[in-house]
Amino acid sequence: MKIISDYNLSELKDIVSGMGEKPFRASQIFSNVHQYKRFEEMTELSVALREKLAAGYIDEPCKIIRELVSRDGTRKYLFSLFDGNVIEGVLMQYKYGNTLCVSTQVGCRMGCKFCASTLDGLIRNMSAGEMLSEILAVNRALGGSVKDRKITNVVLMGSGEPLDNYDNVIKFLRLLASPDGINISPRNVSLSTCGLVPKMYDLANEGLPVNLTVSLHSPFDEARMKIMPVAKTYKISEILAACDNYFKITGRRYYFEYSLIAGENDSDECADALYRLLKGKPCHLNLIRLNAVKERDLDATSDVKANAFLKKLTDKGISATLRRRMGTDIDGACGQLRRRYIDGKLSV
Ligand code: SAH
Repeated sequence: MKIISDYNLSELKDIVSGMGEKPFRASQIFSNVHQYKRFEEMTELSVALREKLAAGYIDEPCKIIRELVSRDGTRKYLFSLFDGNVIEGVLMQYKYGNTLCVSTQVGCRMGCKFCASTLDGLIRNMSAGEMLSEILAVNRALGGSVKDRKITNVVLMGSGEPLDNYDNVIKFLRLLASPDGINISPRNVSLSTCGLVPKMYDLANEGLPVNLTVSLHSPFDEARMKIMPVAKTYKISEILAACDNYFKITGRRYYFEYSLIAGENDSDECADALYRLLKGKPCHLNLIRLNAVKERDLDATSDVKANAFLKKLTDKGISATLRRRMGTDIDGACGQLRRRYIDGKLSV
């Protein structure tokens, strides 16, 4: 079975003409798919066409099977995919709009020591349409449409390493930006990577001005290798060069994520080294206190210490913020809810 939301308008034109239909049907199907309608709900199409589509394509590749609402309003969604795999997404509500955090792979093979998504390795890549359908499903669940979007921003910070599923992610970003569809601009998308340097260079040349975010988590290569195996392949200096190239080509400033882990990366020495790395760069640093994962023997830096770490950097002129941890009561961090589901501790 194929997934209907994997296709762009021109591919859909070929599909419908292969079914003996007029090309304008493709536009109708495309906008209905982006409304996340089932084939039987696409009433401007003939019954015969709806049946042909249903015989060959999946119209709900990402089904919401559970929704959890946090005290702070954050919503966590558990989705089931057509093959029974389960992934998760998080909706964060801000004054300026709603941000959905989406998964890009089932599992992850990057092996970061603090992260729940990678505990069982990579199960499989997600297709462009599956990623898109996370957004379409939640937009519909919130009563949104393509004209009245309930999701304004997207962050690729759920399970998976987006640049390890490069082609599908690029196609997804283009589908997401389609004016005839859900139409979310790359400028409203943040792509977070653990630092796959060659792909960061490729991304700069795609003409997709997303907000590039790099998970740094340490200013020292040696220490970074201990918590992020990918650091054995790419040095921090190479990552920074790729970020500068991204800025040069796209004109977009870039971002760093830094999860504060007690005793690992939160010392004064780390703050000083971080300052030396980032000073004068067109970047913003997002600090967040670790969301402790029970399978991992790591704790969050205290609130007081995290604020002191932040102040040390901002006092010297680094653009940085300490993010509020959202949804901690509903397993807000990467892969935690899926984990609980797999462990059989969450029923749907
Ligand atoms: N693979 C991408 C996106 C993954 S998750 C990446 O590495 O950037 C998004 C962010 O959450 C990353 O910065 C990741 O390092 C961080 N993260 C993962 N687990 C976390 C946890 N338990 N607590 C705090 N941050 C976490």
